[in-house]
Amino acid sequence: MPDLREFPQNESSLTHTEMTDCPRREWVLMDTDVLVAGAGPIGLTTAIELRRRGISCRIIDPLDEPRQYAKAVGIQPRTLELFENMGVLRQALDASTLMRGQIMYTNGVEVGRVDLTLPEDVPYWFLCLPQYSTERILTERLAELGTTVERGVGLTAFEQSDDAVTCTLSDGSTVTARYLVGSDGAHSVVRKGLGLSFEGGAFAESYMLGDVEVDWSIPSGYSVRANHTADDGTTDDLLVCIPLPGHKRYRMSMLVPEELMPDESSNKAAVQHGFSTGKTPELHHIQAVLDRLSPEPTTASMLRWSSVFRISHRIVDAYGRGRVFVAGDAAHIHPPTGAQGMNTGIQDAHNLAWKVALAVKGVATADLLETYDAERRPVGEEVVGMTVRNAREGIGAGESSIDTAMRRQAQLLIDYSESPLNSGRDSSSPHVQPGKRAPDARGLRRDGVQYPIRLFDLLSGVDHTLLLTSDGSAASINSLEKVADAVIRSAHGLLDVYAIVPPGTVHVDSLVPIIEDNDSQLCAAYGIEGTAALVIRPDGYLGFRGHPENISDYFAKVFAVSRE
Ligand SMILES: Cc1cc2nc3c(=O)[nH]c(=O)nc-3n(C[C@H](O)[C@H](O)[C@H](O)COP(=O)(O)OP(=O)(O)OC[C@H]3O[C@@H](n4cnc5c(N)ncnc54)[C@H](O)[C@@H]3O)c2cc1C
Repeated sequence: MPDLREFPQNESSLTHTEMTDCPRREWVLMDTDVLVAGAGPIGLTTAIELRRRGISCRIIDPLDEPRQYAKAVGIQPRTLELFENMGVLRQALDASTLMRGQIMYTNGVEVGRVDLTLPEDVPYWFLCLPQYSTERILTERLAELGTTVERGVGLTAFEQSDDAVTCTLSDGSTVTARYLVGSDGAHSVVRKGLGLSFEGGAFAESYMLGDVEVDWSIPSGYSVRANHTADDGTTDDLLVCIPLPGHKRYRMSMLVPEELMPDESSNKAAVQHGFSTGKTPELHHIQAVLDRLSPEPTTASMLRWSSVFRISHRIVDAYGRGRVFVAGDAAHIHPPTGAQGMNTGIQDAHNLAWKVALAVKGVATADLLETYDAERRPVGEEVVGMTVRNAREGIGAGESSIDTAMRRQAQLLIDYSESPLNSGRDSSSPHVQPGKRAPDARGLRRDGVQYPIRLFDLLSGVDHTLLLTSDGSAASINSLEKVADAVIRSAHGLLDVYAIVPPGTVHVDSLVPIIEDNDSQLCAAYGIEGTAALVIRPDGYLGFRGHPENISDYFAKVFAVSRE
């Protein structure tokens, strides 16, 4: 049933004075708040994050069935933090296998071994989870939230006005939505419809992929990179094996033999990225590469699927225009080196969805949605550059230390330092600043809970979180309650507030939940002393740090003025 909503009432972020100057708006019949085009991992994440915030959405995909092959296998530690927030962490851990490290061979000789370890402050490690499992888990979560993917129907065209986007689907129907998110992959109809450029280039080589079992003695959980170097120093043969859940099962990728080369003469203008529809590699093609490059004699069996694919590196010139946005491969494509593509797209979706949700609820500032491009396009540009560099020079090339290289691959260093949303930033301070990922802290205690809790437990909601430090005295709690009351109003009620008190504090009556920083881990992780406020955004980034009296600087950038 379409619902009838009037935009100026529900969505406007204009002040009352500005509204009186507005031309009269028409009533618009909405089918849904947001249409999500594409039910790959990025569209599914977008839809989940919208539904968790009570926003109506439809999600469509021309494929009758989800794909049953694994493009993305590597899941980064940062993505697992997002999965925890989305309520799919257990499912992802259950269905995956640990990525312990990589062993490198050149001309049959082991030349290096990297163990993928992370310091204790990082909650999760690197996992291998085939993309079909990721999509299944996300689809199930979305269904729990009441939304089912509409399959067998794709987006063919759209038009946007000041108030809505009218989308035409492949079955001839139209959908009117407040916003359209194009998560429709590398050949995106949404990107083309917006007229965005997609600058970059294609790699000359074609590759083939196969999902097989082997009988070698390589230790469990290690990927293998084996190459052959010619006399002139160039690599002329390559095999990369990524562990999959199962017994000695790997997703293997290698250069494609001449007989399987795709014929690209007919479609030179198209974006050359992803799987080709031509000839399919067979077990003997993979065995031939293993016979040349495997670190020890081995036999491949149980071929589950295989394909030939090409890789390009491209990025759009804008992540959206007006009411229409692109995310994931629709916005950026690059080599699979270091398992960055899907993980980056999942963070695009996280960044976009909470902002769209606030806009749909009519409580966002006029500029909030523009920060999606401002924050995510620099990240996309960095990922494209890094993966192209790593494909040519190896992962970690140019990094100052192993720790930095690990954290960067894990996507823990992605930040929005230049974001217009940041407030209270002091770039000369050594402590975590607005625009950076908000780190976890353990050892917290709260009344009624017998075990230590983590900061991330407090961030498991869908809104902003405000942490206010207090010495726990009645006077301090009283003044903190006043701050909380004012800020909750300016955030239209969409804010969770906690008082952070030192260990051993005698609790006084408080309207704000009190959290004891039992081992002072929270204050240490954030470098806090005395009276302080921290605002953590719904996507887990620090938005503000500073004195409580300055908090409104941040909220004024996110939330429209409350008319209460
Ligand atoms: C060989 C290989 C290995 C990779 N390994 C990794 C890895 O280990 N880790 C990692 O993070 N990334 C990896 N990637 C990248 C990763 O697969 C992509 O970044 C990821 O699939 C992007 O997700 P997406 O949802 O944006 O696009 P897609 O997965 O391409 O999904 C797009 C969806 O949109 C649908 N669609 C298309 N047209 C329309 C339309 N008109 N209307 C509606 N829907 C439409 C499609 O049917 C599809 O379901 C790899 C890529 C390749 C090629």
